[in-house]
Amino acid sequence: MNPDAKPILVVGGGIAGMTAAVEAAEVGYSVVLVEKEAFLGGRVIRSYKYFPKMCPPSCGFEINTRRIRNNPRITVHTLATVEEITGTVGDFRARISKIPRYVTGNHSLDDTITEQLGSERPDEFNMNVGTTKALYYPHDTAWPPLHVVDREALSDADMLTLTETAPPGAIDMGMSAEEFAIDVGAIIIATGWRPFDAANLENLAFGQCPNIITNLMMERLAAPGGPTGGMILRPSDSEAPRNIAFVQCAGSRDENHLPYCSGVCCMASLKQARYIREQDEEAKITIFYIDVRTIGRLESFYHDLLEDENITFVKGKVAGISEDAGNNLILDVEDTIAGEKPAAQFDMVVLATGIVPNTADVPIPLDLEYDEFGFLDGGTGVEGVYSAGCARHPCDVSTTTKEATAVALKAIQDLNR
Ligand SMILES: Cc1cc2nc3c(=O)[nH]c(=O)nc-3n(C[C@H](O)[C@H](O)[C@H](O)COP(=O)(O)OP(=O)(O)OC[C@H]3O[C@@H](n4cnc5c(N)ncnc54)[C@H](O)[C@@H]3O)c2cc1C
Repeated sequence: MNPDAKPILVVGGGIAGMTAAVEAAEVGYSVVLVEKEAFLGGRVIRSYKYFPKMCPPSCGFEINTRRIRNNPRITVHTLATVEEITGTVGDFRARISKIPRYVTGNHSLDDTITEQLGSERPDEFNMNVGTTKALYYPHDTAWPPLHVVDREALSDADMLTLTETAPPGAIDMGMSAEEFAIDVGAIIIATGWRPFDAANLENLAFGQCPNIITNLMMERLAAPGGPTGGMILRPSDSEAPRNIAFVQCAGSRDENHLPYCSGVCCMASLKQARYIREQDEEAKITIFYIDVRTIGRLESFYHDLLEDENITFVKGKVAGISEDAGNNLILDVEDTIAGEKPAAQFDMVVLATGIVPNTADVPIPLDLEYDEFGFLDGGTGVEGVYSAGCARHPCDVSTTTKEATAVALKAIQDLNR
């Protein structure tokens, strides 16, 4: 082991970044983990359960966060991004910037303080279903475990209330952004993905009809910490939906949007069909698909649902969705196996939107080789820089953790050259 090895920089604190960080640190290497949100866990921590085992994500994350917390070789910076990277393998320099959280950590804050505030912000964690106060606790995986003030959302009057009512020294509205540079030997890009914006699919009327939601909104509806306390309810009237459609490939495998398969949306919908059936044994579900892609060991998850007489699979691409006066939804779709148009009225529709790499919107500040969609698929074109998880390609958690472990090893090899 090279005693002069510089740390490994991991950009992104989702399951890919957390895995790469603990794997490298636990064999003795220093890691600096940079995450733009105020919490760790990325997209997976926002799910209710994850396939194929159907465990809540907190199971695996509790172990990972403990491994990070107990390892002095890992330094975590949240609310942080990498602004510039220079240098070469073994000797990179990264400039990091951190936005202020305005909460010092000198005193604990409780709900009596947040509740006094009128200022609210969209609840991004819950896919903007509902709001939080402008002083909010990001999630159980908040790192450090502190509230955050959303300065833009906080009114001047509430700023005064906050500084007057919080324990002296708990809030520092004068806190400013930090900037610093670190020297690192190798870099792992684990910046993950965002959902394809369903508003681009005008024919599927997302945003025009309240009872059309996306698969990520469904995750939050089903989650106990979500906006409905875990009850899957129709947004228009808060009634439990009885007849739900899933529209697969909402944007994916479509030359006008995402020409590629997002890889996980079939399994995600099958998983969500189980959420619905667990809550309501009478509920009926129809899944409209192009192909059901559940490869390898995931096939049995699909086959189990084929046995469920309340779940119908229809091979057909949904061409359009309209709404009746009761906010019910009518799908324009042809069953391509039966060669007919089924009666297709539902009280809720879930659009299975796919995966867009975050690097398509915000590239890493280094001259890397992306594919045409913005993924760092395979090599990055720069020695000593690797990618893992959904920064690399659409994939599930199991693939992500394997890749993250593999690139941790590649980075370690670079440090020992
Ligand atoms: C609807 C749906 C349901 C799914 N359900 C399952 C499931 O049940 N089981 C399963 O195995 N897989 C599931 N997946 C896939 C799973 O979400 C991915 O495998 C997983 O999120 C990949 O982890 P990641 O760390 O690569 O990316 P992410 O989870 O996206 O994490 C990336 C992290 O990087 C951070 N970041 C982004 N840009 C920057 C930046 N510039 N600087 C610093 N930080 C940054 C982000 O804030 C985030 O914390 C599902 C996917 C979808 C679409």
